[in-house]
Parts: sequence; C-alpha cells; structure tokens
Amino acid sequence: MFDLTDLTTLKLPFMAKSVIKLSSVENVCVSMQELCSIPRLVVGGGSNLVVLEPKFDGIVLRPEIQYYEVTEIGNDVYLEVGAGHPWHKLVMRTLDAGWFGLENLALIPGWMGAAPIQNIGAYGVELKDHCHRVKLYDFEEQAIIELSACELNFGYRHSVFKENPDRFLVLTVTLRLSKHAAPRVSYGVISEELERRGLDAEKPLDIARAVISIRQSKLPDPDITPNVGSFFKNPVVRSEVADRLLDEFPEMPVYFDGEYTKIAAGWLIDRLGFRGRQVGGFAVNDRQALVITNDGTGTADDLRELVALILSSVKATYGLSLAVEPTQLGQLN
Ligand SMILES: Cc1cc2nc3c(=O)[nH]c(=O)nc-3n(C[C@H](O)[C@H](O)[C@H](O)COP(=O)(O)OP(=O)(O)OC[C@H]3O[C@@H](n4cnc5c(N)ncnc54)[C@H](O)[C@@H]3O)c2cc1C
Repeated sequence: MFDLTDLTTLKLPFMAKSVIKLSSVENVCVSMQELCSIPRLVVGGGSNLVVLEPKFDGIVLRPEIQYYEVTEIGNDVYLEVGAGHPWHKLVMRTLDAGWFGLENLALIPGWMGAAPIQNIGAYGVELKDHCHRVKLYDFEEQAIIELSACELNFGYRHSVFKENPDRFLVLTVTLRLSKHAAPRVSYGVISEELERRGLDAEKPLDIARAVISIRQSKLPDPDITPNVGSFFKNPVVRSEVADRLLDEFPEMPVYFDGEYTKIAAGWLIDRLGFRGRQVGGFAVNDRQALVITNDGTGTADDLRELVALILSSVKATYGLSLAVEPTQLGQLN
C-alpha cells in the first residue's frame, strides 16, 4: 500500500494499492485499456477530495500532463493546457501575457484537469465562461475523445463529469481567452479592493491582485491549515422558497437567477453560531463558516459528527438540505 495522505489538502489518512503517473497523452493511450475494469480514482491537487475510508483497494491515477499550446485568432486566444498544470500558475501565466478571462479565478488551488469537473467558480466567473473544449479518455468507449463545452452540461458546481463519476479522465482543456479588456468587477468587493489599493480594472493582472488579497484575508491557506475550501454548496431554491425565508431572515444574502435563487450557505451556518465550533480535530473556520479545517489530528468520524451537526441544524432552522461540495471517497453519513 502507498501512503497518499499528503496528496490531499484535508490530510485524512489515505492509502492506495497502486499509483500510476501519466505524463503525456501518448502515455495514456498505451496504459489505460487494462485499467477499465479496476476501481480507479483520479487525483490532481487533492484540494476537492474528502477521503473517509483510509484504504482504497484500487488504482490512483495522477494525470501530470504539462501540455501548453497557444493559438491566436484575431483578438481570441485559444489555449490548450495539460491536466497536470497547476491552476493558479496557469492563471498568472495568462495574465502576464495580458489576456483577459481567468483573473477572477486566481488563487483557486488544484490542477487544470479538475477545473471542469465541478465547473470551478469565484467572484461571478465560472470555468464554463472560458472552456472551449476538453480532450478525455473515455473508459466506457476505451478511447480518447473530444467534447465541446456545450456537451459538458455545465451548471453551478456541476458538469457531465459529476453525472458519470468514473467514466472520464480529463487529459487537456482548451480555454478561450481574449486580448480585449472585459473586466468583471461588480461581484463582491472587487471594485472596492481595486480602489483601496490603487489598482486598475482595465488590467487583468490588477484584478487578480485584488482577488488574491480578498481571498487571502478570508480563506485559510490549505498548505498551512488543511481544508478543501467550501465544504457545502450554496442551496439553489425556487424563488417562492427564498421569499418565505427572506420574510423571516431579511438580511439573508441571496442571488436571484430567474425562477431560482441561490442562498449563501456560509451565512446560514454562520448565523447558527458554528464559527469556531470543534469536534475532535475538525473545526468550522473562525473567519469563513463554509470552510471546515483539520488541525492535523482529525479523524473521519470527527468530520462525520461535525457535518451531521451542521446539516441537522440548517435543516431544523431553515428547512434546507445542504449538499456537500467536494468529492467523497467513502461515506460521510
Ligand atoms: C482554500 C481553497 C479554496 C477553494 N476555492 C475554490 C473556489 O473559489 N471555487 C471553486 O470552484 N473551488 C474552490 N476550491 C476547490 C478546489 O480547489 C477546486 O475544485 C479544484 O478544481 C480542485 O482541483 P484538484 O486538482 O485539487 O482536484 P482533486 O481534489 O484532485 O479532484 C477533485 C475531483 O476531480 C476529479 N479529477 C481531478 N482531476 C481529474 C482529471 N484530470 N480527470 C477526471 N477527473 C479528475 C477527482 O477524481 C475528484 O473527483 C477551493 C479549495 C481550497 C482548498
């Protein structure tokens, strides 16, 4: 067994029977077919993975593909990037080149290949806004295929990959960026931060600087304090449900989207007094109630107990069922 505990940012014990590193797309073609009938888990940066069973009796695949190819067509820039490219480094590389698109998504941990899995998003921008195409290994068809963004069924923290959890291995992602300024600074406090620091909203790198400083002030660094970012998704409810809750809790933060309304899960948890609440080695972060941290001694049972407390309190007070955001290996409840 290989000890892979340090591959995940939550640092729960994780042993696997075998690990295969894939360094190129060609490498994938020759080695994948024989793995089709074996339990598999793809692990990139491990920042959205909660391991609840310490022993995984299968193969961990690590797509370390470092491909990077640029095609410029007029003002559009198409960038094909290997699954193993660290996401934040990629964002900074595109901003240094002066291309707009990824600035609001700065400082999200993880690798390129995982970004389409939950359609990463922050500050009003999601991967789907810039994803053009993906190259995949399809374990069902036993072949490399390409899908365009419109075939990926992207939604809020959702994609075709969530619907078919073990079917695909992302090999490369082609992003569409622009040489034209297209700042999106109305979300959250980005424009205030730009002004406070004398930064320029017409420069993608400056927007990223503002985003980075906001994130650093709000979120624990996973390299220092083990965590997986937001532990729960924001509930999306029909507007009449949100209206009923708003009558009772007028200060509840909501984001309207047609007949649906997204409710800030962090606020729901925070209002119940969970910030700083500890069970064994796990605790609700004292700055951001949506984040659960491990002090290094936490066990899967501690995490189960803390999560069950949060879920039952949220259900009892607001009548809402929160969904867990990260992928789970093993049972959380
Ligand atoms: C401090 C912190 C802040 C965060 N902030 C945000 C945020 O603002 N927005 C956001 O959306 N997320 C956020 N996250 C969550 C996380 O960073 C993202 O989901 C990221 O894309 C995960 O990348 P990873 O490489 O670490 O994925 P992993 O944790 O390794 O894997 C996540 C899932 O994707 C699958 N997977 C990974 N790579 C591949 C591949 N190549 N092919 C097929 N399946 C694959 C895995 O099997 C697993 O199911 C945050 C996490 C932390 C710790």
